[in-house]
Amino acid sequence: MGARTGQEYIERLAATRPTIDINGERVTTPIPEHPALAGVVRSYAELYDMQHEDDLRDVLTYESPSSGERVGTSFMVPRDADDLAKRRSAFKAWADHSLGTLGRTGDYLNSALMALSEASDWFEQADSRFADNIRAYYEKVREEDLLTTHTLIPPQANRAAGPGQQVDGRTLGAHVADEDDNGVIIRGARMLATIGPIADELLVFPSTILKGVPEDAPYSFAFAINCDAPGLRFICRENLDYGRNHPLGGRFDEVDAVVIFDDVHVPWERVFMLGEPELCNAFYTDTSAVVHMTHQVAARTTAKAEAFLGLLSLMTDAIGIEKFSHIQEDLARVVTMVGTMHGLVRAAEADAATNEWGVFTPAWEPLNTARNWFPKASQILPELVRKFGASGLMALPTEEDVAGEAQADVEQYLQSATLSGPERVRLFRLAWDLAVSGFAGRQNLYEYYFFGDPVRMAGALLKATDRDPYKERVRSFLDRISETETETEAVPA
Ligand SMILES: Cc1cc2nc3c(=O)[nH]c(=O)nc-3n(C[C@H](O)[C@H](O)[C@H](O)COP(=O)(O)OP(=O)(O)OC[C@H]3O[C@@H](n4cnc5c(N)ncnc54)[C@H](O)[C@@H]3O)c2cc1C
Repeated sequence: MGARTGQEYIERLAATRPTIDINGERVTTPIPEHPALAGVVRSYAELYDMQHEDDLRDVLTYESPSSGERVGTSFMVPRDADDLAKRRSAFKAWADHSLGTLGRTGDYLNSALMALSEASDWFEQADSRFADNIRAYYEKVREEDLLTTHTLIPPQANRAAGPGQQVDGRTLGAHVADEDDNGVIIRGARMLATIGPIADELLVFPSTILKGVPEDAPYSFAFAINCDAPGLRFICRENLDYGRNHPLGGRFDEVDAVVIFDDVHVPWERVFMLGEPELCNAFYTDTSAVVHMTHQVAARTTAKAEAFLGLLSLMTDAIGIEKFSHIQEDLARVVTMVGTMHGLVRAAEADAATNEWGVFTPAWEPLNTARNWFPKASQILPELVRKFGASGLMALPTEEDVAGEAQADVEQYLQSATLSGPERVRLFRLAWDLAVSGFAGRQNLYEYYFFGDPVRMAGALLKATDRDPYKERVRSFLDRISETETETEAVPA
């Protein structure tokens, strides 16, 4: 099949019947027609259509090594610097389409599957079947252009207790309840799967918080399952559009859902790891999957930082506030944020090298810096929109009002230094949706926790950073100046 069109994505989704609860109802209509899901489905379909646009085809697709069909660039195994640059351009083209607000576009996990498949020998440590399985699965997803999402974290019942003692000594997290000749039976829950209800496939991967003790074995696995597998249920948070065609909420609300496994049967050929806590903890790092995933994320967050810079600049133009020095200082902060992201991505690509599995892989230090820095640094972006926009973010009729009875008043009283009333309303509605609305709140939370808890990530970053050379340099400096001081003291006055 190769790279899908939007229509092909929609048709496949419409033919599936996953179990989804949202806004107080169980979904019975085809997913692409459900009012809470239709907007984001349309946006994902647009991404698939982009793969076939004349000016983007060579950016977003390449020739499959097995079928010869055009397939998504994010599946491409990079062998040199040009391949990495092509991958990044593809990530960026998709990210720009949503101003960086779609966080779970297929390229994110396609990158993971590419790296995992290339490192398939690593899976042999557990079972040679798993190596075959991951290779075959990657190829299937690539050739059918399937949309995958992942779920990693166990339910948030009691973070002070182990997975087997969550409440009253009971297990809540998804675990292996049984095994048979055909596969494993999974029972329990995982905390979240963003876009679960509109994806084709769910990757139930390790969360990297296993302690590596034998009791963790039933929680140690990696497998893939189709989103309408019997016994799989999604319980969604409420959707964020409220039916009023919000510029972002109406298009890019990537529904987040709790995932319940009610004795879900996973066939052996979909199992990639089982009962190996230590290997599960090393799953992303030993295979370089984390590096390629972060390469995609850095391209997306660059797109987001650039979008905020564009929006903030349009706002300062619109209401004539750019001459104020504190506004300039704030804008300069965003300029440096964009520059920092550009620099980190370029550095990661410039220092890339071939990993032990033969994959040309970006340097980790710049990407690890980006993924530890951006989640916290980016929290200032919506704050600046609120600061710049002030009451302009509330004096904000809907698009229907702009075209309705209030039209003349909007044109007269909501115009700005550079924009007509309707233009200003459109710009500030975007600002509201990126900085004030429920959609905006969810975006902040998403960025902050994207790679996990930033607090524990900071601890891991410290642990992984060899600081001895820096300590040594300071020690030698102290030794040197103390010698100089001793010599100086020794000189008679
Ligand atoms: C919008 C959104 C979408 C998401 N989508 C997905 C998804 O698609 N798939 C997926 O798998 N996950 C998803 N996540 C989950 C995300 O990976 C987690 O939010 C993140 O890993 C943090 O874990 P937690 O939410 O369980 O927080 P918790 O671990 O419950 O932490 C809550 C608070 O307690 C503190 N805390 C808890 N335990 C410790 C500890 N041991 N030491 C120090 N402090 C501690 C934390 O610092 C934090 O302040 C999503 C999250 C959000 C917000």
